[in-house]
Amino acid sequence: MATRLSIIGSTGSIGTQTLEVVRSYPKHFEIETLTANSSWELLASQAIEFSVERVVIANDKYYGRLRDALKGRNIEVLCGVDAIEEVAASKTSDVVVVSVVGFAGLAPTISAIKASRRVALANKESLVVGGEIIMPLAKKYGVDIIPIDSEHSAIYQALCGESTPPKRILLTASGGSLRDVELQKLSEVTPQRVLCHPVWEMGARITVDSATMLNKGFEVIEAAHLFGVTPQQIQVVIHRQSIIHSAVEFADNAIIAQMSYPDMRLAIQYALFDGERMAINGFQSFDPFTTNSLTFEKPDPERYPCLGLAFDAINAGGLMPTVLNGAGEVATEAFLQGKIRFTQIAEVIESALSKSLGGTITSLSDIYETDSDARVYSSEIIKQL
Ligand code: MG
Repeated sequence: MATRLSIIGSTGSIGTQTLEVVRSYPKHFEIETLTANSSWELLASQAIEFSVERVVIANDKYYGRLRDALKGRNIEVLCGVDAIEEVAASKTSDVVVVSVVGFAGLAPTISAIKASRRVALANKESLVVGGEIIMPLAKKYGVDIIPIDSEHSAIYQALCGESTPPKRILLTASGGSLRDVELQKLSEVTPQRVLCHPVWEMGARITVDSATMLNKGFEVIEAAHLFGVTPQQIQVVIHRQSIIHSAVEFADNAIIAQMSYPDMRLAIQYALFDGERMAINGFQSFDPFTTNSLTFEKPDPERYPCLGLAFDAINAGGLMPTVLNGAGEVATEAFLQGKIRFTQIAEVIESALSKSLGGTITSLSDIYETDSDARVYSSEIIKQL
């Protein structure tokens, strides 16, 4: 029987790659729902191509156009964020892929968990800001969260079939697009320069987050939640070749790593097929004689201050990761708009963290409030810089 999917955020980078996997295995999947924030044209064409049952557009400004584009077809058209939360809880979906970017991923992730759906999670914020809520909920509802991120998928794969907990996680990082830029020149780099990433082709924000390694910091927080380890058990390693996507060390010092050339479809497919290994179209086998060396470096805290700030945030726990995320997003956006220097991204985040906007999480609304406070505060700091 085909696996029924709902993809929350089908028009972004992970969403479209998820559909690429579905396209290469059409008999294995059926799509129940696709959602998008505002890209109604792409959403409409995806809905037609995959004969989906339902689409949801978050921004109601595009509802009319989407409805007209799908007129006469047997596709239900809904709008609004509440509708997205509802469709994520559909009991007739086998897997809910949460590939929406940003804070908007939190609510649908929670609603899919509460409906006991298998969750394929590509949304960082869900675990970065909501990990303390989401992991206990997943446990309560018996939900397996399968990560769609090359690193977390690698760790998940390495832990498969193991009954002992990990002793240490080696979280690999490319080092980002500025890894070889002289330290003194970092304050001068332009957004255009940052956007040339050596390995992964990604959106603008995540490429900057990769250059600051704030993204790796988020991944540390996610890994701590997902795999139940302390931040001290996570070693971030710069591995330029991006062949080892991460590794796990056990009590006996055995290290299990997942290796391959970089291709996001591997992690996506692994999650969609629930661990079953399937061929990937046009994906090259690893050639050890072309990639004849694998290197490992310690991240320089001076080059990557955001990584240390992320460790501070997860060590403090509660709402601190929310402050980190909110301030990070505002600062990164300001850099992309040319309002601040690259090196000031960390300064804005550090200032927001030291303002102690955090505290303990008692409910989701605490997270939303702190997020908004962190953004307002960071915007003010940016104006003063
Ligand atoms: Mg990653």
